[in-house]
Amino acid sequence: MKEFEWIAIRNNDNRFDGQFFYGVSTTLIFCRPSCPSKLPLRQHVSIFLSQCAALEAGYRPCKRCCPDDVAFVQPRSQIVNQTIEIIETQLAEPLTLKKLAEQLFVSPTYLQKVFSKEMNVSPTRYLMKARMDLAKQQLLTTDLQVSDIAQSVGYLNAAHFSTAFHKYTNQSPTHYRTKV
Ligand SMILES: [Zn+2]
Repeated sequence: MKEFEWIAIRNNDNRFDGQFFYGVSTTLIFCRPSCPSKLPLRQHVSIFLSQCAALEAGYRPCKRCCPDDVAFVQPRSQIVNQTIEIIETQLAEPLTLKKLAEQLFVSPTYLQKVFSKEMNVSPTRYLMKARMDLAKQQLLTTDLQVSDIAQSVGYLNAAHFSTAFHKYTNQSPTHYRTKV
């Protein structure tokens, strides 16, 4: 399972509905990423790229999120998909709206407009969320130093990272780590 898949499942992120499905080996049920059911243990989760693959592996569709209902799959525009892909694969880079736009060969204004309209969140806000989600996860599941985590989510300066993290979660990284 890729990191963004697990993050999408944890956040019940409906933007990934239709892009992949996840099965839970203990129940043999598969769901859309957005399913509001209880979060399974990570080691019990398998990712399927299609419902057929899940069915073939012996999983049944969840009655709550109905992953076998094709009507929910809404194609997103290419540019939005590409933006998300860049953000997810380049979290550690010093990405900005301008740099995103450059990679997509469009103007920052245009990217901002299209992305925000379709996702109800600006590209930079989306980037921040992706960074902070990954940082939170690393704080909870690894022993990495805060400065290393900061770098892995695009902050060369650990103090800047801590400030951003605090602003986003209302807690310092160390506090967040020890609290849970
Ligand atoms: Zn479900």
